[in-house]
Formats: sequence, C-alpha cells, structure tokens
Amino acid sequence: MAKTDFFKPNKIYISHALREQLCDLATQDKTHFGLVTVNIGESSFELNEYFDVGCRSGPVLHLYPDFSKLHRTKRYLEMIGKAPMVEFHTHIKSDTELHIKDIEKMKMLRRGYWIIGGNNGLAFYFFYHKPKQNTKNMMTLVTEKIEL
Ligand SMILES: [Zn+2]
Repeated sequence: MAKTDFFKPNKIYISHALREQLCDLATQDKTHFGLVTVNIGESSFELNEYFDVGCRSGPVLHLYPDFSKLHRTKRYLEMIGKAPMVEFHTHIKSDTELHIKDIEKMKMLRRGYWIIGGNNGLAFYFFYHKPKQNTKNMMTLVTEKIEL
C-alpha cells in the first residue's frame, strides 16, 4: 500500500516508551502539540517517535500551532524518510473527547489522523468527509475514535 493512501488502520501499535512519553505530556500544565511518525503496514500503523512542535493555547483558542516550526519539522521528517502522518495534542485537565475547536479544525482539514492525550489516557482519531445522503455538494464529517 502506498504511503499516500488514506485508510483506516485496523490495528495501531504503540511502544511502551512512546505511550509513557505521550501520557506524561498529557499530565503537564502546558498544551503540547507535535507529530508522531508512523510505519505503515498492510492495514496497521506502528507509531514510532514523537516530535514536539510549539503551540499557543488557551480556553478560547484551544490550540494554535507554531506553523513555521510545524513546516520545518514536516520538511525535516520527509527528508529523513519518516512519514509524519499523525498529529498529537494534549488536553489539560480534561479527557480525550473532542472539543468544539477540534471539530472545527477537522472540518477545515477534511481528513487526517490525530492522537489526543488527556487525563484518561490516549485516543486515536481517524476522520474524513463523506457526501451527505441525497445531496451532491454537502459533506459531512465522520470521526472514528480508537482507544490506544
Ligand atoms: Zn483538542
């Protein structure tokens, strides 16, 4: 399967060390945002390594990445042959459920893979748009959550 294909992984593997690292970030008083590199199997994801990217955050803003660092990190990871496909961010003192701002961002991005770290652990989200029934141009956001 080509690395650019978008599909729902049937299984997601995460190492003990990476799980500890991401859970630890989720307990901090500061919102973290970054990229997780992935080895893509036939129908599975093996999560590899976390690369922190700075962000601004707040109750209204929720999360605003440092875009220049995000692009630099993506370029670097592409250069060394890693696939930075999964975005990670933390929810301070709350769980892994999506905030309104998360859903707004998902609608804007149209599709992607996220991990959210919260006080109840880690959740993997897979999201995409599909046409609404009986309409041509209306799209609806579909999100699926996989507990990690
Ligand atoms: Zn969020």
